[in-house]
Amino acid sequence: MARANAHAQVHSDRGDDSLHEEETRRREPEDVRRRQLIDATIESLAEIGFNASTLAQIARRAGVSPGLVAHYFGDKDGLLEATLRSLSLRLYRATAARLAMAGDARGRVQALIDANLAPEEFDQRTSSVWLAFWGQVLHSERLRRVQRIYQARMLANLRHDLRSLVAPGDVHRVAITVAAVIDGLWLRSSLSAAGETDSVSARQVASLFVDAQITAARDSLSAPAPATDGSPCMISRPPLHANHIGGRYRPTGGATFETRNPATGEVLAEIEIAGEPEVEAAVAAARQGQKRWAAMTGAERGRILKRAAELLRARNDELARLETLDTGKPIQETSVVDVLSGADCLEYYAGLAASLSGEHVDLGPSAFGYTRREPLGIVAGIGAWNYPLQIACWKSAPALACGNAMIFKPAELTPLTALKLAEIYVEAGVPEGVFSVVQGFADTGRLLTRHPAIAKVSLTGEVGTGKKVMTDAAGTLKYVTLELGGKSPLIVFDDADLDDAVSGAMLGNFYSAGEVCSNGTRVFVHEKVRAAFLDRLVARVAKMVVGDPLDPATQVGALISPDHMEKVLSYIAKGKAEGAKVLVGGERVVANGLGKGAFVAPTVFDGCADGMSIVREEIFGPVMAVLSFTDEDEVIARANDTEFGLAAGVFTRDLARGHRVIGQLEAGTCWINHYNITPIELPFGGVKQSGLGRENGKAAIEHYTQLKSVYVNLGRVEAPY
Ligand code: NDP
Repeated sequence: MARANAHAQVHSDRGDDSLHEEETRRREPEDVRRRQLIDATIESLAEIGFNASTLAQIARRAGVSPGLVAHYFGDKDGLLEATLRSLSLRLYRATAARLAMAGDARGRVQALIDANLAPEEFDQRTSSVWLAFWGQVLHSERLRRVQRIYQARMLANLRHDLRSLVAPGDVHRVAITVAAVIDGLWLRSSLSAAGETDSVSARQVASLFVDAQITAARDSLSAPAPATDGSPCMISRPPLHANHIGGRYRPTGGATFETRNPATGEVLAEIEIAGEPEVEAAVAAARQGQKRWAAMTGAERGRILKRAAELLRARNDELARLETLDTGKPIQETSVVDVLSGADCLEYYAGLAASLSGEHVDLGPSAFGYTRREPLGIVAGIGAWNYPLQIACWKSAPALACGNAMIFKPAELTPLTALKLAEIYVEAGVPEGVFSVVQGFADTGRLLTRHPAIAKVSLTGEVGTGKKVMTDAAGTLKYVTLELGGKSPLIVFDDADLDDAVSGAMLGNFYSAGEVCSNGTRVFVHEKVRAAFLDRLVARVAKMVVGDPLDPATQVGALISPDHMEKVLSYIAKGKAEGAKVLVGGERVVANGLGKGAFVAPTVFDGCADGMSIVREEIFGPVMAVLSFTDEDEVIARANDTEFGLAAGVFTRDLARGHRVIGQLEAGTCWINHYNITPIELPFGGVKQSGLGRENGKAAIEHYTQLKSVYVNLGRVEAPY
């Protein structure tokens, strides 16, 4: 008996220890634990292969319970998918690091070869794991998807660099051949006896092969052209992008539109327009995808969204460059704001996803009630052109976190980065159909706003568009969130720190060349400090660098299009005609090679009156109107005298006054002693004609969910008949 007890004691001590360890593990940061489990999987695959690597065996190896592995990855497939992603991501990062160091196009192709055939990819452990996956890819859709993405990336990189090395017609063929040679060399080296080939010789072979391909392609280009039948010769065309529906690109072969770089006029790409069949396909895919997505737990959805946020961050440079090309905004902005704000948003809602819940309602001893917070179903997002990727993230992140599927239509002027977001969502593991991108003009937007299967529309755009969208949505009684235009006031009191106030006014008028909805374009400055404020403002604005948006030194890039530039210039002309005085700027910029682009100098008007067009109407360009005031009540009344109500700012050292004034301003988003800062945690949106509903913060959850009330009877049913 005593022995039995002693034995039991040892056993239970062990149990306590392992429980304790398990508990400690549960408290470790999630990423670290996921990493450990992935490492254990790699070890297991390397040592005992695919079939013998069971969930229980991997859990044992990692020293955790199979339940914990299931908690993080669902099942063995989930764990294997995460492991393949992790291996691919490591290779992607190594490739990106080498590409960043490479000098020219040939050097970049070499960087790809070197990364894929690097010594660390040939060690016994890594190569046997890759081989295990390659064998399974044929049998698993999940693994195949990861593999496809990895291959697509490699080909996209090769095509990009080969464009300047071989004739346009040869790019695709040479890219595929080079990719095949890299894969073949790796396979041969991994499977052959030690010493037959290694990383160094494999890289040499690949390098010689690439040179031979480039030379052959160039030779064929310089060879005399064969006799033709007189048909026009092939001209290199910009890339063609299809709609991204149900997790992949779906070419229509139909009508297209062009997107141009507004800094140069160059055509960046042709985009296929989504008509009714494409919108119907997106809705059908969303129906399927949303069911699977909503059936996941919030924590599972959150984990996938967090992965998407990580992918956005990892590709910040590439996406920022694309956004700069498509919008004309300076790379110094897009590389620190546009992509990262999108990633912040995904991360924020990834964190909230697990906490979404209803509430319990006490109804006395014989009943209780509860509410379920449920997704709306399929929702539509329609974006403006000024922050294309950020808007796509701000709309899709809360929508997806709440279990909805979203069909997103970017503005026709900036269609490129939303497609990248769709690719990233797929790569992160968002099920097919949960996020689709349909391209086109207002007609495509209307197909969404009138569609009976779509439960909600979230639009960012002009006030007029907002009214049309609301009218169309009324036909099927959709929920509507509208983020619309503004003509916001920024008030500088006589006790303000003037340098800060000037900084705020510049941020609130010239960031993104003034194409920001919340800009404080009516700058009310107390008469006592007006002259000093203007002196400092003009001195700083005159030094702003207008130039090539891709140049990191550029502070003001191009406006979105030549048409929009004409609109902004016409407002400047109106301001002059109505008697306001230009203190700095006031014209188009064409010097230093900017003549092909839509550049307007940052402009400050003084001597403005409340009734002028430049003070009443949204210009959406780098045009600031300075007005003076003397009295607090007076300035509040004038600030509120507008149909808009998006934003407002106050600069004062008197914090009591700051809060008092903000409390009376009719605006949805306000700043005290700053301007245009929009952290994801704070709800963003307008009052009056600047919008309905809120984006960001916990408030957005209300706009992407609906409550179901459930009454639960615990007693008998009393019926009077
Ligand atoms: P628009 O209102 O012209 O367009 C917005 C989007 O709506 C575009 O995708 C557009 O398609 C689409 N659209 C246009 N008409 C319809 C319709 N009848 N039905 C459905 N969709 C339609 O805005 P801009 O793109 O010109 O963006 C600038 C405006 O956006 C400014 O007023 C700015 O203040 C506002 N804005 C507001 C923000 C906020 O958060 N409050 C933030 C950013 C901008 P397409 O363009 O392809 O034809």
